[in-house]
Amino acid sequence: MKNNGDQKELWYKNGLRFQCQKCGNCCKGEPGYVWVSRKEIENISLSLGLRIEEFARKNLKKVGSKFSLIELSKGDCVMYKEAWGCKIYPVRPKQCSTFPFWPSNLESHEEWTNLKEFCKGIDKGPLYTFSAIQEIAFGCGTGDTPRS
Ligand code: SF4
Repeated sequence: MKNNGDQKELWYKNGLRFQCQKCGNCCKGEPGYVWVSRKEIENISLSLGLRIEEFARKNLKKVGSKFSLIELSKGDCVMYKEAWGCKIYPVRPKQCSTFPFWPSNLESHEEWTNLKEFCKGIDKGPLYTFSAIQEIAFGCGTGDTPRS
């Protein structure tokens, strides 16, 4: 898929709607990694009032040269609390803040529609313009914000 070429070739050229319904599905259940950069670790630690070392010891695992938030026994993200949601929402990692506008989910209309089973926010809420989606997914939009 082209990520910055002819807009007419991209199936979502008219934008896409999304609004998180706070179901928590993307924060729990399936095993995986939530990658955090050093800057994100600093910001999260600060927001929780913890020293970086303390936050890291309790909440991070090293995978190769990178860091991921750990998961609890059922696969839930360590930062997710039932009936509360994400404990670090305003400073959540880029991997979380860019969902569902991940390149893999934008591959085709079918991929996007299939996501509905998992994410209740697909095709709901404000319209994200093509440019806004490109910025979120590929860092190459024009800085548009979502429109309601
Ligand atoms: S799966 Fe979708 S609707 Fe549910 S919490 Fe995640 S982003 Fe929000």
